Amino acid sequence: MISLQNLRERLRVGAGTEFELASVDPDYTFGFDKVTAKEARKPELDRLSDLQDRLWAQDKQAVLVVLQGIDTSGKDGTIRKVAGAFNPQGCAVSSFKVPTPEELSHDFLWRVHRRVPGKGLVGIFNRSHYEDVLVVRVHSLVPEDVWRARYEQIRNFERLLHGTGTRIVKFMLHISRDEQRERLQARYDDPAKHWKFSLGDLDERKRWDDYIAAYQDALVETSTEDAPWYVIPANRKWFRNLAVARILAETLTEMAPDYPPAPDLPANLLIE
Ligand code: AMP
Ligand code: MG
Repeated sequence: MISLQNLRERLRVGAGTEFELASVDPDYTFGFDKVTAKEARKPELDRLSDLQDRLWAQDKQAVLVVLQGIDTSGKDGTIRKVAGAFNPQGCAVSSFKVPTPEELSHDFLWRVHRRVPGKGLVGIFNRSHYEDVLVVRVHSLVPEDVWRARYEQIRNFERLLHGTGTRIVKFMLHISRDEQRERLQARYDDPAKHWKFSLGDLDERKRWDDYIAAYQDALVETSTEDAPWYVIPANRKWFRNLAVARILAETLTEMAPDYPPAPDLPANLLIE
């Protein structure tokens, strides 16, 4: 019998341990297949719905979910499938694109900090401040000493958030180069997916090894006890969705959000 026990520990980038992104198999499924993974996902999503309701009612803690991954790794699909469990009223998705001139005129955390969820909310980042040590590094958009200093700035920023009631969970969706080829081809071949396709993605693909190197360093530098990274084998969408749902459900369970105590009410009240 396959079990989800230990999945979170297995996929976590341990703080201060040796970690090799290259050693994570993007095809790994923990023994699940498509059918069993979908079955297993349902109760995790139910648990997430219930926990989010409590988080919202309690209004004291927040959850920040960071989603990163190379082009076509499935960030949008993960949001559709997993965030679907949340009441939209208590959930906000923020997508970070190429910074605007105004954003660039501030420090790199400025645009990110203002999107951090307030108490009672779940915030999902589709890309994030990590682009400032990934794409920025790969394309040498700033000098090396500037992006290197960001690892510590990010750790400090996330420590601030954690210390003020925001639980941070970071996912790197890990696909193989072959899988990316297939997904890009599918986007090109399907007119309904053309809007997602850009020739620029092919240039990025040529820098695959540079991205992997940038991810490797970012994961090791910034996976902490309080703000851990999870590397999700993401070639199989059904395993990716299951793993993210499970890890989020476990994290929220640990936060133990609960409904606020009921006010003192008279007995046998009948509302007319
Ligand atoms: P997409 O996620 O496909 O909508 O693309 C968004 C694009 O914005 C990606 O190519 C990112 O690399 C890029 N991007 C996001 N954040 C930054 C940043 N801080 N600096 C430069 N490019 C960024
Ligand atoms: Mg894109």
